[in-house]
Amino acid sequence: MKDVYVLAEHRKQQLRDTTWEAMAAGRKLAAELGSQCIGILLADKVDEMAAKMAAECQKVIAIEDKAFETLNSDAVIQTLALLMKDRSPFVLVMGNSNSILDLAPGLSVKLDAALATDCFGLEVMEGQVRALRQKYSYKVNTLISFKNADNVVVTLRGGAFTFVPSGQGSGTVEKPASPLGGISLKKRFLGYVEAEKGDVDIAAADIIVSVGRGIGDEPDMSVFESLAETMGGVLACSRPIVDKNLLPKYHQVGTSGVEVKPKVYLALGISGAFQHLGGIKGSPLIVAVNKDPKAPIFRVAQYGVVGDVNEIAPLLQEKIEQSRK
Ligand SMILES: Cc1cc2nc3c(=O)[nH]c(=O)nc-3n(C[C@H](O)[C@H](O)[C@H](O)COP(=O)(O)OP(=O)(O)OC[C@H]3O[C@@H](n4cnc5c(N)ncnc54)[C@H](O)[C@@H]3O)c2cc1C
Repeated sequence: MKDVYVLAEHRKQQLRDTTWEAMAAGRKLAAELGSQCIGILLADKVDEMAAKMAAECQKVIAIEDKAFETLNSDAVIQTLALLMKDRSPFVLVMGNSNSILDLAPGLSVKLDAALATDCFGLEVMEGQVRALRQKYSYKVNTLISFKNADNVVVTLRGGAFTFVPSGQGSGTVEKPASPLGGISLKKRFLGYVEAEKGDVDIAAADIIVSVGRGIGDEPDMSVFESLAETMGGVLACSRPIVDKNLLPKYHQVGTSGVEVKPKVYLALGISGAFQHLGGIKGSPLIVAVNKDPKAPIFRVAQYGVVGDVNEIAPLLQEKIEQSRK
């Protein structure tokens, strides 16, 4: 029977959302396999975070070491290689953040495990674990089986699993000694670099007008700034707009930008890549304008307009102004 292990991700002594999403997936999988869901926490101070995790699963293995102040891939891989040695067969579930992507491939090699990254679904069929992921720029869904693998490592797409606290875990925390003493690490954590803070806080906005590559190569940004102002909102964007230096980084929405929760999110010329959608999953009302009726953004939008943003944005502004007269 494969037990399911969930690797916690933390930053500055706080468990990250990816931990809880992985916990949701791990609990589901363990229930379907009829096995245990066990949390793994590697941190410089474990007590508080381990207690929170233990309230949500059967057991937590918590290892304390200064080297785990961050998810240092070198330290994590070496520790998990030793920790998991006698636990085969297993499924190890974790988020899909940059830190995890830095360690998951090397870890799977060390653990002699199959690896599936960025999965948005997990299921058990005839006792076997299967994972769902996307291919070809998110156009095709693929169901993956791990037929000949005893051990499986899976990373999960942000937002794919919703965590609902149960508070029904056993509360058991096991604290083995860190195996890192005497092992020299090639990587060292130097410090955090805080993101640039701007004049606009898009995370706090109720209304967001967000522009993407579809606004064109040499867009007139004043059209979109003016629309955002008319709507009483702020202007945000997808990553290509920042890459082109059309807006500063603190306007970028998404997994490597800012996570926003506005009451209304108007997406103009944005395709809806998952890295962008990961930043707007908390928004209850998404309105999209895109000239491609098959753009993925329409799958999450409550309202959609198929058309040219450069025509629709000024038209929308005109209508709003007229309605106020
Ligand atoms: C590690 C990593 C992190 C990332 N983090 C982020 C992130 O935080 N945020 C983010 O946004 N992206 C992020 N990305 C990039 C992401 O994968 C996509 O490339 C990006 O979101 C695409 O932006 P877009 O929708 O503006 O452009 P595109 O995908 O090029 O889409 C443009 C859309 O505009 C439409 N269009 C074109 N012309 C018009 C027109 N005249 N009128 C209407 N519609 C039109 C097209 O049909 C298309 O759907 C990340 C990528 C990686 C690898």
